[in-house]
Amino acid sequence: MDFDVCVVGAGHNGLITAAYLAQSGYRVGVFEKRDIVGGAVSTKEIVPGYQFDLGGSAHILIRLTPIIEELNLSAYGLEYIELDPLFFAPFPDGDSIYIYRDVDRTVEHLESKFPGEGAAYRRFIDDWTDFSEAVCRTFLSPPTPLSLGKNLAFGPSTRLSSTDALRLITRPYGAVIDEYFREEKLKAMLQWMAAQSGPPPSEPMSGPFVLWHPLYHKGGIARPKGGSGMLTQALRRHIEAHGGTVEVSAPVDEILVENGKAAGIRVGGDAYTSRAVVSGTHILETLEHLLPPSHRPESPARKMRVGNGFGAIVRLALDRPVRYAADPSDDARTALQLVCRSPQQIHAAYGDYLNHQPSSDPPIVGMSFSAVDDTLAPPGHEVLWLWGQYYPYELANGTSWDDIGDAVADNLIDTFEAYAPGTRDAIVGRLFQHPLWLERHLSLRRGNVMHLEMSIDQMFMMRPSMDMSSYKGPLDALYLTGASTHPGGGIMGASGRNAAHVVLHDLD
Ligand SMILES: Cc1cc2nc3c(=O)[nH]c(=O)nc-3n(C[C@H](O)[C@H](O)[C@H](O)COP(=O)(O)OP(=O)(O)OC[C@H]3O[C@@H](n4cnc5c(N)ncnc54)[C@H](O)[C@@H]3O)c2cc1C
Repeated sequence: MDFDVCVVGAGHNGLITAAYLAQSGYRVGVFEKRDIVGGAVSTKEIVPGYQFDLGGSAHILIRLTPIIEELNLSAYGLEYIELDPLFFAPFPDGDSIYIYRDVDRTVEHLESKFPGEGAAYRRFIDDWTDFSEAVCRTFLSPPTPLSLGKNLAFGPSTRLSSTDALRLITRPYGAVIDEYFREEKLKAMLQWMAAQSGPPPSEPMSGPFVLWHPLYHKGGIARPKGGSGMLTQALRRHIEAHGGTVEVSAPVDEILVENGKAAGIRVGGDAYTSRAVVSGTHILETLEHLLPPSHRPESPARKMRVGNGFGAIVRLALDRPVRYAADPSDDARTALQLVCRSPQQIHAAYGDYLNHQPSSDPPIVGMSFSAVDDTLAPPGHEVLWLWGQYYPYELANGTSWDDIGDAVADNLIDTFEAYAPGTRDAIVGRLFQHPLWLERHLSLRRGNVMHLEMSIDQMFMMRPSMDMSSYKGPLDALYLTGASTHPGGGIMGASGRNAAHVVLHDLD
């Protein structure tokens, strides 16, 4: 037997599963098709002198888990830099809003700008802090009716009456925000942040995407020093230090099956045997490609909604720091920059997407982490990412991203230029990651950064499907992890940790 466990795919979830298994003394082999580990949590020098993240950048959810401490990742080179302010929202009329890590400071700031809204913000945070923590607890174990019931239905999860709570939880998050706030600018800011999980503000049952907002104050937002990919580099070092093997440029072609059980993997002409296999790839890669034809479930793609793309991001190398007209301070560069003038702008962008058109007037999240990390760009220079939604993978009239990509990136930059004049002139290099780019380079099918749509019908026990939600695949000894499984996409690692517990239970 070559390994106790083979892990397919070195996304952060696959690596986290491998790290827990290696730390428990099992012989682990991780096989990744790209030339670096990390999947959608990786960083590369794309423009000389500038470190570009190629996937997720803002580390939020993982900081609410015990993973960093349990794996002692600081001993393997991971160093987090906290962002404060957390969020900055500039507006075309020169106004701006901040949300700070500290709730009191945020309340005071909002109250001074929009009397009454600071108090509303405090009420919102107080109403939903316990609930948001309960939601977070449900992320840290396999989804079962018992864990959901214990944490959400029967726990002291909100100070509201159960009828009020249920009404808000089942509402679209846009409507929840309308119920608490009056000021359109604050509504735009909160809606745009909640929209980052994917569903639009009008989607029923999406209330939790804003009701977990108190968690930003609890866990903060952070950046690994050196780039987002330093998390996955640290995981690789951890696995190797515990005797594990991590192979890159090693695309797995097949999961080997013996007597109806997963028994290893094949990479080209090389077969590796193991007691168990964990697949951390997109679920459809596992079911449609990695399983031998005789063991594939029937038409899985019909039962799982990948959706039609999600967002797109232009990564810019600038020869000077970004400066917002509404606030040229370094505080603005430090925070996540929510560049969205109104809730209507989000609705219009989603309307374009439904028509299979790239958003013509995209709301943007700006990120300039060189404000807090001087290893990302030469001195005095900047890395600036502009993330826009919504961008369909499949475009109207058969248009190809290869043909329109440059023009769409230019539109994102022009939209941003209105808020930070001079940005275009500062550009010395760029990379545009549109949905087709994300599929080609990061294996994110149809450009969905969350693997499968994050709508209520595909969450908890329904992710990736009812019969595979406990991290177990359709074969004995085949396990699943990654954004295709509970609790879904984002840099969190909870799926990797939960899957490790299931595998450890079965192996021990
Ligand atoms: C542009 C972008 C911006 C984002 N921004 C944020 C953000 O700021 N904050 C946040 O929390 N989240 C963000 N996300 C989402 C988040 O990064 C992802 O949801 C998450 O990283 C997915 O991790 P994973 O380990 O589940 O899967 P993946 O990262 O998809 O890992 C799967 C791995 O499997 C490998 N693989 C596939 N097939 C094979 C095969 N046959 N053999 C071997 N290996 C294979 C892939 O190469 C990949 O490395 C962003 C994502 C993108 C792309």
